[in-house]
Amino acid sequence: MPNLGLEIKRKCRFCGKVFLIKTLDSYYCCKKCSDAAYAKKKRTEAREKKLALIAKSVPKVREFLSVKEAVAIYGVERDTLSIRKKKHSPEQ
Ligand SMILES: [Zn+2]
Repeated sequence: MPNLGLEIKRKCRFCGKVFLIKTLDSYYCCKKCSDAAYAKKKRTEAREKKLALIAKSVPKVREFLSVKEAVAIYGVERDTLSIRKKKHSPEQ
């Protein structure tokens, strides 16, 4: 790896620690942070891909959305939705 000839400090993108970079494309202070950030990115990507698929599969005109679909379309978390349960018992 080429010696930069100068010391550049950068904040670790994962843990926020300031460290001396070894190469211009060092963004993490250590391998552990780099690996953890990579794993997190992969998880986020997988989640977004899954949500995009669900959002795509929902027809445009629809009276009700499932919680899973609402999360996928509106990008809201399950906890922020207030869920009303309807009883299906017309004869009483
Ligand atoms: Zn770090």
